[in-house]
Amino acid sequence: MDTLLKTHNKLEFLHPLHGFAEKVRTFSYAKPQNQDLRLGPKRSHLKWTNYGGVKASSSALLELVPETKKENLDFELPLYDPTKGIVVDLAVVGGGPAGLAVAQQVSEAGLSVCSIDPSPRLIWPNNYGVWVDEFEAMDLLDCLDTTWSGAVVFVDEKLTKELGRPYGRVNRKQLKSKMMQKCISNGVKFHQAKVIKVIHEELKSLLICNDGVTVQASVVLDATGFSRCLVQYDKPYNPGYQVAYGIVAEVDEHPFDVDKMVFMDWRDSHLNNNKDLKERNSKIPTFLYAMPFSSTHIFLEETSLVARPGLHMEDIQERMVARLRHLGIKVKSIEEDERCVIPMGGPLPVLPQRVVGIGGTAGMVHPSTGYMVARTLAAAPIVANAIVRYLGSERSLLGNELSAEVWKDLWPIERRRQREFFCFGMDILLKLDLQGTRRFFDAFFDLEPRYWHGFLSSRLFLPELLFFGLSLFSHASNTSRVEIMAKGTVPLVGMINNLLRDRD
Ligand SMILES: Cc1cc2nc3c(=O)[nH]c(=O)nc-3n(C[C@H](O)[C@H](O)[C@H](O)COP(=O)(O)OP(=O)(O)OC[C@H]3O[C@@H](n4cnc5c(N)ncnc54)[C@H](O)[C@@H]3O)c2cc1C
Repeated sequence: MDTLLKTHNKLEFLHPLHGFAEKVRTFSYAKPQNQDLRLGPKRSHLKWTNYGGVKASSSALLELVPETKKENLDFELPLYDPTKGIVVDLAVVGGGPAGLAVAQQVSEAGLSVCSIDPSPRLIWPNNYGVWVDEFEAMDLLDCLDTTWSGAVVFVDEKLTKELGRPYGRVNRKQLKSKMMQKCISNGVKFHQAKVIKVIHEELKSLLICNDGVTVQASVVLDATGFSRCLVQYDKPYNPGYQVAYGIVAEVDEHPFDVDKMVFMDWRDSHLNNNKDLKERNSKIPTFLYAMPFSSTHIFLEETSLVARPGLHMEDIQERMVARLRHLGIKVKSIEEDERCVIPMGGPLPVLPQRVVGIGGTAGMVHPSTGYMVARTLAAAPIVANAIVRYLGSERSLLGNELSAEVWKDLWPIERRRQREFFCFGMDILLKLDLQGTRRFFDAFFDLEPRYWHGFLSSRLFLPELLFFGLSLFSHASNTSRVEIMAKGTVPLVGMINNLLRDRD
């Protein structure tokens, strides 16, 4: 069962996952709507929560999941020495892709940086997928371990779309090693702990860690992902949730072309013999996302694109098992699994505020897709440059003034407007059932590549986004147009209001 904890001014629901607790937060004054988002235990001897009871088929699959494998990088870390009482230029809280990217770049400019994370050497657990052009633009092609020349979308049983845009899986060990090596050679110090509190003074901040150590820094960057440890929000937190269950598996065979990744498979004939599941799926659909590494080695992820509240993990696992059986995929062994819960959309943090943020903590997830890693890595130099500019040799700004400038660079008006448009996209997706979703993606992937590439990779800004919207509307079927008008009018008015209210 979920456990309700009260910490600071927030309520947290802790879900038992892989032996660690995934946190989903909500402000105390907001209705805790994510209570509905229950994540199931992976072992069949544990009782499943109040969602339709134990499904024998899902638990047979889950029995193959190995005990969590925690692989660490083999690095000797230069440690932060708390006895010296040094005030570092920058303390980065969280050693995910976002935090390490900024730590690396700020230290490259000669500033002193301390990176704080409870497991600094642990290889990141998530299976990241990106469009190859996004990593190419950042000179990170060496950090992809598999690439596919294109992707495929199964809209329904009859309609398939071929996407001529190469896709890749991030080699997370290589990416993290590369960043850590650069951090180490630039003199970054590491502290292995969790930050529990920050105290701000006029020119510096004190970070209190759970091991009793205090780290002092001129600037604090919160890069703690969706746990949003220090960054403050002042509006009710009401995101949609992408929920997915994925496995890297060894299988007898699978029906997919190994040269193409499966971006979305919206087919539902696997549910023909299960009226209950079929009905649930037609209201809130899930799709298969798959990365075939070879004819017998594959990453399979059943995904709910976005729902509010998020789908139950058990529901997703049950759909996945039915799908794999229908596709004739027999899982022989599972290398690793991932339970993915991504908050999407919702308000931005308070802008500006003393603690600066990046990544999950700073509202950077794409509200219509759940993607973020490429966008975050591309934003890291913006945050790093702003910090270096003001904190560099002249120390022209400090304290609140410096943080305000960093936030301004991270979330300039054009990015805020872009996000507002993406939230509008999410609001429409939230209202679409399976048929509506299929019609939407049928039109979406018929758009000129610059439009759909640009939308997915956050490269379109207003007014291009308006042309994108008009183009999508003109590609849509008549049914889809009526649906977009009926379901999109209220979100459209909301978006316009927000755009008019938000000024520099
Ligand atoms: C399962 C999963 C799969 C995903 N797949 C994709 C994908 O394919 N493509 C994509 O673009 N995006 C994907 N995302 C979304 C997003 O890119 C990731 O969540 C990404 O890891 C976010 O990076 P981050 O650095 O902001 O946070 P994280 O990677 O979450 O890193 C946060 C770090 O902060 C540390 N931390 C937390 N609290 C504290 C504290 N109090 N003190 C110190 N340290 C702390 C954590 O231990 C962690 O190391 C996925 C997300 C999930 C959950």
